[in-house]
Amino acid sequence: MPGSLNPSPFMDYDDTVIRSISQAYPHGDIENILSSLTKPPSRLYVRVNTLKISVDRAVELIEEEGYRVYMDEHIPEALYFIVEGPNSIADRGKRVVADKYASESVMMGSNLYSPGVVKCDRDILKGDHVSIYSPNGMLIAVGVAARSCSDAMETRKGLFVKVSESLYTAPPVRELEVWKNGYIYPQSLPSMIVSRLAKAEPGWTVVDMCSAPGGKASHVYQLTLGRASIYAFDHSSSRLERMKDTLSRLGIDGIKIFKADSRYLSRDYPWLKADLVILDPPCTATGVRPKIYDRKTSKDLYSLANYQRQFIYEAHRILRDNGLLVYSTCSITFHENEAHIIDVVEEGYFEPVKPDMDLGGVAFIGRDLPWVRFDPYIHDTPGFFIAVLRKV
Ligand code: SAH
Repeated sequence: MPGSLNPSPFMDYDDTVIRSISQAYPHGDIENILSSLTKPPSRLYVRVNTLKISVDRAVELIEEEGYRVYMDEHIPEALYFIVEGPNSIADRGKRVVADKYASESVMMGSNLYSPGVVKCDRDILKGDHVSIYSPNGMLIAVGVAARSCSDAMETRKGLFVKVSESLYTAPPVRELEVWKNGYIYPQSLPSMIVSRLAKAEPGWTVVDMCSAPGGKASHVYQLTLGRASIYAFDHSSSRLERMKDTLSRLGIDGIKIFKADSRYLSRDYPWLKADLVILDPPCTATGVRPKIYDRKTSKDLYSLANYQRQFIYEAHRILRDNGLLVYSTCSITFHENEAHIIDVVEEGYFEPVKPDMDLGGVAFIGRDLPWVRFDPYIHDTPGFFIAVLRKV
């Protein structure tokens, strides 16, 4: 059950988590913030891979594929599609329940694949009109079954429902030719701002400590035209495989990839001395939108915050004097964000650096220290946090 401070029926966050979110948005209304998490932002962003194609040409190609796309006001390589909805959809009788992960894509208009099915009415046959529900009973889409329920449940493979109407509608970015050709990379606006704020320069040694699937590392590579030395670490083999696919699609072969536990880089890679560290560690992901529902406890929060702090101290160890750390999370709690920055500045490890970029209207800049915070309710983006620090 949600804690007593929690007004949301969808976000099962205990009181500690709610307090940590409220602490980060002292003037925000927790109810609005939590309810904004159940909806997608109205813009779906992609980054143009300017190593392969110009922004204007990418716009033309996307429009040739039948989608309207717009240029962002702040970042030249950022384009966005408009997300439509919420659409009203009517139940079609036969029912399918998708798991949370699949539901969060299906509600945006993606097709439902068999591995994402929790259960389905046994009489569903190929060609039937069906309704797709989330595990918490929300009607999220309707469509046509591409196979029978028993086939989907037995094989656990392939397309199950071709979605025709969904709660929200956004272009199927990963089905576009421009994606397949590596001309665009789906990435949220705050994520792109991370690499933009890093302002890496040619010749720098850049370390991305938690890099897979490579969104930020490939962006830094793009912005430096491949002239920085980029070392990308991650401890997950499967995520590193995904990263290799991403980089080969984007036509990038200059990033040095290592499988490692990044909490021990100074011990395991003693030669590594960074001018810039990008640190985007595991987090509660409380800012990610849209969520069908979510559950987080004080234990999740404190263990992740503790994990994040280990990476921050390690970043300090591998940085050169005066080197920069760009820290980010897709979480909206105080303990995963401001608390770290306040502490490591007070402890004398780092000093804050003012973001050198016009962020008017897209984010708040911290009053105590100049961190960047995206409020999912105010800014129509995922909830997100970025801080730029200099090693002292
Ligand atoms: N920066 C990435 C997203 C990173 S998500 C991007 O922009 O695309 C966080 C990553 O941290 C995950 O890939 C996870 O595998 C990795 N990670 C978690 N614990 C780690 C550890 N101890 N050492 C290295 N990587 C770790």
